[in-house]
Amino acid sequence: MPNIFNIGLGNDNPAIRENAESDYISFWADQAKKLSWFSSWEKTLQWNPPFAKWFEGGLINASFNALDIHQKDKGKKPAIIWVAESGESRILTFEDLWIEVNKFANVLKSLGITKGDRITIYLPMVPELPISMLACARIGAIHTVVFSGFSSISIKERIEDSKSKIVVTSDGGYRRGQIVKLKEVVDEAIQNLDFVKNVIVLEHTKEPIQLTSKDKLWGELMKGVSSECEPEKLDSLHPLYILYTSGTTGKPKGVLHGTGGYLTHVHSTFGWAFDIKDDDVFFCTADIGWVTGHSYVVYGPLLHGATEIMYEGAPDYPDSSKMWSIIQKYKVSIFYTTPTALRMFMKFGDHIPNSFDLSNLRLLGTVGEPINPEVWKWYYMIIGKEKCPIIDTWWQTETGGMMISALPGIETISLKPGSGTRPIPGVHISVVDENGIEVTPNTKGYLIIKKPWPGMLLTLWGDDEKFKNAYWSKFPNAYYSGDYAKIDQDGYFWLLGRADDVLKIAGHRIGTAELESCIVSHEDVAESAVCGIPDNVKGEVIIAFAVLLDNVKKNSELIKKEIFEKIRKDIGPIATPKQIHFVKKLPKTRSGKIMRRLLKAIANNETIGDISTLEDGAAVTEVQTAFNNLLESINEKNN
Ligand code: ATP
Ligand code: MG
Repeated sequence: MPNIFNIGLGNDNPAIRENAESDYISFWADQAKKLSWFSSWEKTLQWNPPFAKWFEGGLINASFNALDIHQKDKGKKPAIIWVAESGESRILTFEDLWIEVNKFANVLKSLGITKGDRITIYLPMVPELPISMLACARIGAIHTVVFSGFSSISIKERIEDSKSKIVVTSDGGYRRGQIVKLKEVVDEAIQNLDFVKNVIVLEHTKEPIQLTSKDKLWGELMKGVSSECEPEKLDSLHPLYILYTSGTTGKPKGVLHGTGGYLTHVHSTFGWAFDIKDDDVFFCTADIGWVTGHSYVVYGPLLHGATEIMYEGAPDYPDSSKMWSIIQKYKVSIFYTTPTALRMFMKFGDHIPNSFDLSNLRLLGTVGEPINPEVWKWYYMIIGKEKCPIIDTWWQTETGGMMISALPGIETISLKPGSGTRPIPGVHISVVDENGIEVTPNTKGYLIIKKPWPGMLLTLWGDDEKFKNAYWSKFPNAYYSGDYAKIDQDGYFWLLGRADDVLKIAGHRIGTAELESCIVSHEDVAESAVCGIPDNVKGEVIIAFAVLLDNVKKNSELIKKEIFEKIRKDIGPIATPKQIHFVKKLPKTRSGKIMRRLLKAIANNETIGDISTLEDGAAVTEVQTAFNNLLESINEKNN
């Protein structure tokens, strides 16, 4: 199979990149003008490092841009096609959404919410989640969405940090046929939080619940409310939301995003990357509890007036064909998901997607982790049937929107599996060494951003110092992403994993992503994670964990041998792990990312730290047992 794929959609608009290169500030001003502003800004960018002010003085409203502007031409067009794991569905047109958002905005006002107040939203993937967010945006309240899989301790921390006056939740949500009792979790979380004035409870599952004096039912509140609420004219820098990061590398950070810059970034990238057309059906599988859901389930598609699928439930429930049956039924044309989900689909076997009609798909995307080239090729062949470009989009909660990606909407580019291709127009990314000097092609280094970009976080909520320390202290006047990358001879970017996760073996630095991809390229392996443990001679030795595909018959000792050989051949003997353990699960965050810091902590016998964002505690126990067995066998050998 080739390693370069020349496939594009035939769109070519070189002027965009040229304009961005000649003057990135006026380039972004031109992009911002594509949104509807109540009045224009005075200065495009005020850069007082590390604080960037985009379009200050410009007045704008996010819900107006997501809804009001479409009412005339697209009022009857489906905005959200909601599908539940049970098969139940609901369609909301742009007009329906507009009405609900206006009404809920009036409800919030009637409960005393004003501009700048924070509202925590702890809802499953139901249309009332974007409705709540847009209602906040309409009146200038700051939404802070907490992923509905979190426990009461995690949600309490986030409510306390943001000092939310209202929590919006539901009687429950569906996951694998079970009802998750969200309202009970909120009750526990807010027990001693007097500043929480009300809890609004959506009647979603209709399970009986206990109401307290703070509780108000969504259905009751919405009765007889006016369906018109003037959108607040907000300064471009007015905070739109706080969102806590996934917590892959440590305690989650409360990222604060503004309005005008953020919307400009999301609007531009959504159009460029997904080449969105009026008749497209867009499906992003991310939960709105994460940034991908904010930017590319809520704001991006709605700003463009696109029709999208919103799914509530597990992607493999009631069976492993759920995603493909949705794509077939609703004629999805653009599909955006994560490497972790793709590895799972791949593990189930090709016969599952192969038995569905996926012919409406024309563009595929991924986000969240480096995609192993093997998985990329599977996505391309089995899902895209060799006709859909795949965009591998690198970005972070902090960047607000995509920063590195192929952009089929504006340019045709050859794709290389595992590379995100190039930075988007108007952003300045480079890869540097420890001293901040740009590295030569194909050399690994730190990915940094050299100039402000419109989707850039304003700060960390209530903590400018932490904002400075976390992102702006490692290199002077540059944003430190915490990721490890290289740029090849063609200018293509390759993300090589978290800088914290780098392995240092006998003086060589080996990226986790590279090694894991090599292991995953073995035909029987579905997933892999590697980490280092201290070694007197080599400094560090590598320990690898792998999850095998379903129904593998081969002897595991033989598979190990083959993996070792592959690593020696593809990367070099230096990268050979000391041990490979086959496990059923890897420890992951609830957003699906492998938590290597846990593997490392277990290996080094350290305390595990904040694991509030861990998906499944059982995986930690499994990895811990594998480690203990390993340590025992090492000790036996040494004695
Ligand atoms: P925390 O910052 O709390 O550790 P997190 O970094 O996992 O959590 P997010 O902002 O959701 O939180 O994730 C951004 C990170 O995800 C990036 O820094 C990068 O490591 C990884 N990532 C996202 N997209 C890609 C991609 N296309 N290729 C490689 N890595 C990616
Ligand atoms: Mg991060």
